[in-house]
Amino acid sequence: MTTSSRSSSSRHKNTYGYEHRDVTGGWLRPAVFGAMDGLVTNVSLIAGVGGAGGSQHAIVLTGLAGLAAGAFSMAAGEYVSVSSQNELILSEVDKERHELKTNAVGEQAELAGMLRRRGVSAATAKLAAAEISEHPEQALAVHALEELGVDPEELPSPYVAAAASLLSFSGGAIIPLLPFALGFNVLGVALGLSALAAVVGGGTVARMTNRPFWRGALRQLVLGGVAAGLTYLIGLAVGGLAAA
Ligand SMILES: [Zn+2]
Repeated sequence: MTTSSRSSSSRHKNTYGYEHRDVTGGWLRPAVFGAMDGLVTNVSLIAGVGGAGGSQHAIVLTGLAGLAAGAFSMAAGEYVSVSSQNELILSEVDKERHELKTNAVGEQAELAGMLRRRGVSAATAKLAAAEISEHPEQALAVHALEELGVDPEELPSPYVAAAASLLSFSGGAIIPLLPFALGFNVLGVALGLSALAAVVGGGTVARMTNRPFWRGALRQLVLGGVAAGLTYLIGLAVGGLAAA
């Protein structure tokens, strides 16, 4: 099975057959977070330009530039972040591989110690550690999981991470621009539509973690409103200064 087909499912079946919610990955939560990021960034940008008395033309140009700049910046940041995290993990796995080769006895004792801390008796731990250590790749996987908390065969792809944040940020950032594209040249309509999107996005994330819809919706709405409101006031102040 390939890495992508394994991680594409947001739920994992455990050995007993019932399903756990995937608490490590899952694409919907980060996608909504990325979209909310794009929404708040862009609604604040156009509110700022609108507050400064910018024309509709200036508002749309600012929104498009904000969408592109934010999406590329998020993608680049995510790519570097996931790549360097993977490089760190792989270099630690290499260290572990080297240790297993040069210090086999010590590593086997270390493994037995880990099993004992998990509640296995000394005799069984010794036996299990010896058995696991017979297969070098198997042993490496167990050491990596115990010591680094990762499966080195299942590292996230930096390309997928970059593309996902580019798309999700763009999806949120385009919302305040939609009214202008449809011919409603009023800042208020863009703000209203963005408020609605904040309610839906914030509420959706809350539902995914089994919390009430309205609480997440309200939190996202208030935070987005504060960001856009403050930027609007800054625009108002700077716009006034520039006119004076
Ligand atoms: Zn080790």
